[in-house]
Amino acid sequence: RHGVQTNPYLFFHPELLKQAEYRRRLEDDLRLAVEQRELKLVFQPIVDLRTGLLAGAEALLRWQHPERGAISPEVFIPLAERIGLIGEIGRQVLNEACRQAAHWRQDGLDIYVSVNVSASQIPEELPPESILETLRRHGLPSQAIALEITEGVLMGNISVVQNWIAQLRAAGLRIYLDDFGTGYSSLSYLKRFPMDTVKVDKSFIMDMSDDHTLVDAIITMTGSLGLTVVAEGIEEIEQLDLLRAMGCGYGQGYLFSRPVAAADFMATARRINTD
Ligand code: C2E
Ligand code: CA
Ligand code: CA
Ligand code: CA
Repeated sequence: RHGVQTNPYLFFHPELLKQAEYRRRLEDDLRLAVEQRELKLVFQPIVDLRTGLLAGAEALLRWQHPERGAISPEVFIPLAERIGLIGEIGRQVLNEACRQAAHWRQDGLDIYVSVNVSASQIPEELPPESILETLRRHGLPSQAIALEITEGVLMGNISVVQNWIAQLRAAGLRIYLDDFGTGYSSLSYLKRFPMDTVKVDKSFIMDMSDDHTLVDAIITMTGSLGLTVVAEGIEEIEQLDLLRAMGCGYGQGYLFSRPVAAADFMATARRINTD
């Protein structure tokens, strides 16, 4: 009659309580961090594998928590989505990415900056008009910004998402499909949602030393669909050599550079371009 199942104290298990408490605090801290603009972007080079020259930079968000140290975007982005903060974060990210892109262009570094967009931002939190307006405000041409979306985006309302993509592409922005190959039916998505570029997920690049037929197939397939390919997570020279031989257009990874602060990006760019 009064077994474990009916023990009311089970619901208040100290570990669970601690977890809930931890999460609630983290949410409050994240709200504060967004308000006080404490989230910072770092930038990782994207390299043209044919020329070895810098082509672009992916903007990646960082949160240095005052007590808990660095918190991964894989933790705080989903949290931000849950508590309705992703809209505000996304606008800050786009604005800051544009500001940097404009700054680099003024210094003669003609690269694009790619920005991650999460599914819950589309379309209301990030309508095409507001994206274009942000670019205009920074005096940027539309090729200066690329938007990275994942399959999660494509599982929303089909015609709404198609419209969002089509409007932005018509205006000259490039849309990248991120984490390609990790989802369910990537290929059929590419037919239904015309895009410019796919980013091959780093898990495939990491497996290449065992077996590279999959990456080879992805590059051949996407190439025949007229898509550009970016390989992410290139850490070793052997991976780079293989990817080059397969005709992969672009690459990104620790081999070239880790994501760096904006202030250090120029030096990184110079190093890559003169190597
Ligand atoms: P992602 O868009 O797939 O970003 C690539 C991740 O791989 C980044 O992790 C990057 O630092 C890491 N990476 C790059 N090169 C290498 C490599 O050679 N080896 C390894 N092992 N990793 C590499 P990060 O910065 O921790 O970001 C994780 C995820 O968080 C991103 O995955 C993206 O989904 C999300 N994220 C980051 N910033 C933003 C943002 O501003 N907005 C949104 N919505 N999501 C973001
Ligand atoms: Ca080089
Ligand atoms: Ca990305
Ligand atoms: Ca990715």
